[in-house]
Amino acid sequence: MTVTWPDNLAPAFKVSYAVVPIVGSDKGFPVRRIYCIGRNYAAHAREMGADPTREPPFFFQKPTDAIQYVAAGTTVDHPYPTLTKNYHYEAELVVTLDKGGKNIPVEQALSLVHGYAVGLDMTRRDLQRASGAEKKPWEIGKAFDHSAPIGPIHTVAQVGHPASGVISLKVNGEIKQNANLDQMIWNVAEQISRLSEAFELFPGDVIYSGTPENVGPVVQGDLVEVHIDGLPELNIRIV
Ligand code: MN
Repeated sequence: MTVTWPDNLAPAFKVSYAVVPIVGSDKGFPVRRIYCIGRNYAAHAREMGADPTREPPFFFQKPTDAIQYVAAGTTVDHPYPTLTKNYHYEAELVVTLDKGGKNIPVEQALSLVHGYAVGLDMTRRDLQRASGAEKKPWEIGKAFDHSAPIGPIHTVAQVGHPASGVISLKVNGEIKQNANLDQMIWNVAEQISRLSEAFELFPGDVIYSGTPENVGPVVQGDLVEVHIDGLPELNIRIV
């Protein structure tokens, strides 16, 4: 039996289905789920008021259609969201998976990885903080429309597994974040392994691997440029 959808609902499918281009291929990567790890760089954990030495990794999700694709060499308009007065950037390395599984040992975890991309975990910081203070879910601060900008995907064959290298972010040409991927508390293999204990992973899943310290606000008109060694820059203009 084939199940399809009524014609009047077809536009909803087009809106919600995110496909990210893969460098060197005419195929795209269909995003199934967006996982994000929280507080994965010690200095960022401290600036968020957490103790980075004792905390196990934790994860949250964004909806698939939060993906905003940003082609290399372009600057894409990124809408300033509603309801916030403190809209923050978080530069992050994004991991894409083309295999899945449950309870994946750390030693096998990188075999699930398809590729890597530059990403931004955009955050309505005031709403996120208020949610935490009120013991409410984080969705309104993290899981809103366009909250997951991403650049083109480079495959493992093209870039290997970047375990070190500069991750940095500029606003209007001024360096704001400047760290190294080797400062992650939980590396990519450990993230995949831990995540697979909580959720069965599938091809199409992506993981935003956390941001270093010095997150901060942007306003309309700001140019945000994200750099990760070995990958093309990701540029957005807040509008
Ligand atoms: Mn983040």
